[in-house]
This record gives sequence, C-alpha cells and structure tokens, in this order.
Amino acid sequence: MADNKERTISDLTRIITTGTISGGEPVTLTFTAKDGTQVPVSECDVLGTSGQDLGYCLDCGSEHLEVEPDACNYECADCGKDSVFGASELLIMGCIS
Ligand SMILES: [Zn+2]
Repeated sequence: MADNKERTISDLTRIITTGTISGGEPVTLTFTAKDGTQVPVSECDVLGTSGQDLGYCLDCGSEHLEVEPDACNYECADCGKDSVFGASELLIMGCIS
C-alpha cells in the first residue's frame, strides 16, 4: 500500500472478502523491524494465501519459514531473541504496512 493510513475494520472486512488488502491485485507490503530493517513482504504471505508459512523477527528482521501465521515470540535463529512472529500476527500488530 502506498499510503500509511491505519487499518480499519472495513479494511479487514475487505481482506476477508477479497483475499487482498488492496481489494485488487496482490501488492508488496513492508515489514519494519525494531532496528529499522525494512523487509518486503508479499501480501499473499501475510494473508496465508501463498501456501507457505512465513514469519519475521521483530528485532533483527530476518525471515523464517514454517512459522504459523499467528505465531508469537518464537526464537530467532539469527539473533537468538524470542521475537519471531507470524506474518499475519505482525500485520495485526501494525508492523507490516
Ligand atoms: Zn532475530
């Protein structure tokens, strides 16, 4: 999404009904880690429609495979902190926009 508006209930309803946040073609979103690292994230991965479970470390921004969408505080193999969250969880937390 090009804008930085806060997500609203109607946004979430659109995601559920259309399968995308934009309501159109899947777009690339950005996950921002605590250290400022910005990671491009496919909308399909965030919504779980890509068929793979992706998660990201909130501290270092590293990508992790086989992380459930609603995972919280999994251990990061890169920085060792319990900061890996599922992509959908990060969207809800407002870390993906
Ligand atoms: Zn990490």
